[in-house]
Amino acid sequence: MSYSALARKWRPKSFAELKGQDHVAKALMNALARNQLHHAYLFTGTRGIGKTTIARIFAKCLNCEQGVVATPCNACDTCRAIDSGRYLDLIEVDAASKTKVEDTRELLDNVQYAPAAGRYKVYLIDEVHMLSGHSFNALLKTLEEPPSHVKFILATTDPEKIPVTILSRCLNFQLRALSENEISQQLALILQQESKSYEAEALQLLACFAKGSMRDALSLLEQAVSYCQDENINLQDVEFMLGMQYRQYLIPLLQAVFEQNIENAVALVQKMMDIGADAESVLQAFLESLHELSMQSIFLKKESALHSNKYQNLTIPLPEVLQLLYQIGLNGKRDLLFAPNTRIGLEMTILRMIAFLPDERKLGTPVTRVSTQQHATTPMSKPVTKPSQDNRASSKSFSSAVPPPALSSPRVEAQQARQQVEAKEVSAPAKALTANQSWNDIIEGLPLTGLTRILVKNCTVSHWGERSIHLALDISQEACLNQSRQMQIQKALSDYLGKDIVLKISCAEHKGTVSTPLQQDQQKEEQAQTDAKALLLNDERVQTIMQTFDATIENVSYEKVVK
Ligand SMILES: [Zn+2]
Repeated sequence: MSYSALARKWRPKSFAELKGQDHVAKALMNALARNQLHHAYLFTGTRGIGKTTIARIFAKCLNCEQGVVATPCNACDTCRAIDSGRYLDLIEVDAASKTKVEDTRELLDNVQYAPAAGRYKVYLIDEVHMLSGHSFNALLKTLEEPPSHVKFILATTDPEKIPVTILSRCLNFQLRALSENEISQQLALILQQESKSYEAEALQLLACFAKGSMRDALSLLEQAVSYCQDENINLQDVEFMLGMQYRQYLIPLLQAVFEQNIENAVALVQKMMDIGADAESVLQAFLESLHELSMQSIFLKKESALHSNKYQNLTIPLPEVLQLLYQIGLNGKRDLLFAPNTRIGLEMTILRMIAFLPDERKLGTPVTRVSTQQHATTPMSKPVTKPSQDNRASSKSFSSAVPPPALSSPRVEAQQARQQVEAKEVSAPAKALTANQSWNDIIEGLPLTGLTRILVKNCTVSHWGERSIHLALDISQEACLNQSRQMQIQKALSDYLGKDIVLKISCAEHKGTVSTPLQQDQQKEEQAQTDAKALLLNDERVQTIMQTFDATIENVSYEKVVK
């Protein structure tokens, strides 16, 4: 099977078979059905999306022996002659090779003669923008007063270069580039008809590489069929054929970045470079994967064509983390030009992603508790220190935190938690806010890490029963929720409370008075920041310095001092 055979065999033979250009097909079919034909059409669009194919179908519709029809018979001599490219009244001209005015004159001299065999002479002038100024003038005269037996079809990839006088005498159609899905579906259809097996992801890659051009896609498919020696068309072979073997290391690289495993990440980049990958393509593919993962996390609960099982073993980070990585990758790609060499640029971009990836400590665990007011407004939280001690601690130094909490055994904590729970069950509705605050303390005692911890910190308690607990998850974190994380939380809560409980998590918007533990942490953080600044401003020594040097305090940052 040669390329020409495959391309010819699968070239659309009627408007109904045409892929992706429905708007053009519909307009032309309507015009043909009503016999309201314009004498000149201009088709604009990138290469390989069906301009010549449309011209041929149009010529068949006009000249089919069955009459002027919207759907040609494809059986008569005329239709067959046009399909095989040997019809006298379809004159195909490549303007790129005939730019001179003499060529155009010669062509147009013949316009006046009646068609040799059919009803209409159809002139297809491809890449019409390549004509010279004089050629356009010669063409314009014919377009102004065309003989009734002539139809012009002009095709171009660059309509900006065509004079307005020509444009205004044509019906203009913008052909669109085909989507990857349209192309891969068409390739799949062809392979099914040819009784060949394939991997869907291999076709997806071919479609991506064809960049919207069906002709390029068919040519690549042809190449793939012979490369795979008529066996199953699989992703690995197609990657190899396209020089994209490095893609096999892409998912491991994503994993290494997500896990902040620097050694693995660097080794994988090395491997990719060793097999001849270029840094920009790697970065490009990495960014595409981040986009796919973002889409997956949005459509997690919906069945979607975007779903791909190739990422099934990856733990998808939070949407904001994916955004951060994407932005770093995008900047890295832009800066490749300025890097000492592209390999260094790629390595530094990957390392930067790992360096800036928010780790569990920053995201998952609560921030320091400096503020004494916070404790005062939390009546049900475990009294860690006496207020007087707190005051002394904070007056001594703004940066010193509260003394370490008194040691208590897990059993005692569990008992306390149970007591709290019982207390809550009696007066749950009235003390919703308080219940949520001590919910924060319970979370502290759960041995959860990573995304599961973040997930639980984004929940408030909506029902606390003897054997069942209902949590309301902040709607923005919906994408993090899955069965396994819910089971982890249920087990941790059961262990903590010393009894089997059934956990239900539903999504809700958290507004107004009830804030999630994570929001509370952020509020505490802000409060601590404000308190720290106030303490600093009230310090006599600081005041002296400010007066002496006419200084101001711009930003206050503080750290928890662990004693
Ligand atoms: Zn026919």
